[in-house]
Amino acid sequence: MPCAYIEETQVSLLSSEDRTNLAFVSPSKIQEWTLAKIEDYTNRIEALKAVHNSAAAINRKLPRDVLLEVFSQLKPDRRSAGWYDVLHVCRLWRLLLFRCPAFWTDVLRAPRDLVGVTERSMARLTHFLDLARTRPLELSVIGLPQSAARALSSHARHIVVLEVEGNQRDLALLNSLIDAGLPLLKRLSVAHRCDTRNTRALPPIQLGYDKLPCLRSLKMPSQSSYIMSHTFARLSHIELYGCRCRSCQASSVTYSHMRYTLGRCSALETLELTDLCLKDLPSCGGYDTVRLPSLRRLDVWDDPGLMPALLADLSLPKTCFVSLNRAATTFESMLPEPEDCPQFYPVKFADKVVVEFDAEEYATLRTYAKDSQLLHMESPGPFRSEGPMPSFSGCESSFFQLVLQVADIFAPPNDVTALTLRTAPPLGDTIGTHSVALRKLLGAFPRLFCLDTTAYDGKTDLLSTLGEVLDIGLYHCPFLLELRVRWRYQIINPNRDSHWLSPKVPYVPRRTGPQALGDFCDAIASIIKRRAGRAGPLCTLSVTIVPGDDDELPWTELAKRAEARLQEELGFTKLVHRIDVSYATDAS
Ligand SMILES: [Zn+2]
Repeated sequence: MPCAYIEETQVSLLSSEDRTNLAFVSPSKIQEWTLAKIEDYTNRIEALKAVHNSAAAINRKLPRDVLLEVFSQLKPDRRSAGWYDVLHVCRLWRLLLFRCPAFWTDVLRAPRDLVGVTERSMARLTHFLDLARTRPLELSVIGLPQSAARALSSHARHIVVLEVEGNQRDLALLNSLIDAGLPLLKRLSVAHRCDTRNTRALPPIQLGYDKLPCLRSLKMPSQSSYIMSHTFARLSHIELYGCRCRSCQASSVTYSHMRYTLGRCSALETLELTDLCLKDLPSCGGYDTVRLPSLRRLDVWDDPGLMPALLADLSLPKTCFVSLNRAATTFESMLPEPEDCPQFYPVKFADKVVVEFDAEEYATLRTYAKDSQLLHMESPGPFRSEGPMPSFSGCESSFFQLVLQVADIFAPPNDVTALTLRTAPPLGDTIGTHSVALRKLLGAFPRLFCLDTTAYDGKTDLLSTLGEVLDIGLYHCPFLLELRVRWRYQIINPNRDSHWLSPKVPYVPRRTGPQALGDFCDAIASIIKRRAGRAGPLCTLSVTIVPGDDDELPWTELAKRAEARLQEELGFTKLVHRIDVSYATDAS
């Protein structure tokens, strides 16, 4: 034996032929000889494994076409490790998978980061694109380097969905790709990629109709949307959002640009607008109406400044579902009415607005025109879902979010002359954000003739706002003629963390009965007197005492006394023509 130190048992495992041959190999060649032998045997083992696998029942009994069909239904998730395991099951499966374009289109559908992509990864991507053959491609990439743009351009005829998040150079290459034509592209989504090294302005995307004849869905920063093209007339879905990148911050996209863009989208079926960062939101209307006759759904997100202008300018079919979202609250259009109202005009036509708040159920917003209901929108109550009992502060803050949203929707100018607000919780803080919200609400309706509101003591409710003088020296609602108040005499204790209107929960009223009613009358009288001279006289002041749990008191009698007290305070002033105080159960 050439190597005496090798154990005999090891050598005895070699075939007799190998042992014989080995005896003739010089010691300096033994390694070379053994390596050649190892390769030979490895290949044979692979061949034996292949024969073994091909004899497996699934491969023997299932026709190849069926296997191929199974593979085409696989949804390989490239984001999870091991998506390619199926490629390594056996030679046959691998071979079949390479002939299954549907599998590769699914592989290609996963988002891909191409920023700083290696040559090897690029070669793999190119290979996957080839394997997808002529199947429709849905691609989503971050970054579009030259090599990737080149690879995509040879498959441009099959791309149906393209999402690109790019910097200046990437978007220039995207424009070249579009310019060469993407004849089947249905959906295009463009996002800007922050690039601190490159501060050049991002190029607008060129949306030539002849280059993108099938384009129906578009998502892009609002700042890029002013680039007009005939393509817009064919779009059925548009998503515009305010981009915060450096380039967009420097641009000056305006409301009139966006309005002009929408005006060209006559085939639009769904429209989503998110925080558009527009520069010239109009303080008053006056534009022609933008007609979107096919719109089925409108979503506006977190854009308080935009809502009133947009809702006043758009003409939508009455069946359109409208969702207005702001921070914690969402109003969704449920029942646009009446049936003969041809369009959705929440702001323009409304002369009466009713807002009702119920922390347990829904907040509702209804609008009317000449007593016909135009709109009924609902916002799910903040505590409707399962969970602990609502706390007072939780109720309070969701109510004021709601009030802010209503103020946003109806920001002036509008023709609303009547506002009903029920059932506002009392203000926990009369100088903080909650009173600011109530001021904003009254400020949204400068032409109000009639106000119907829930009140507690004239200090922690909407009435207190009526008594505040504005910067311009006037009072809120200077044309008010009718003030209707539903007085809730059981005032909750805001320091206690429990539900604020539920009769099931025992509570500690701060003050109730005749004394509270007397104080309330004094507060109203004082507010009305304060407004004298800077707001017109009231035709009607009507107070309704709302029944509560503790109704032992002679409320009917107390109501008469309160009415006399108000007459005494205000009767001679000619600030109110008619005063009326009643107890709700007597009234009807
Ligand atoms: Zn941007």
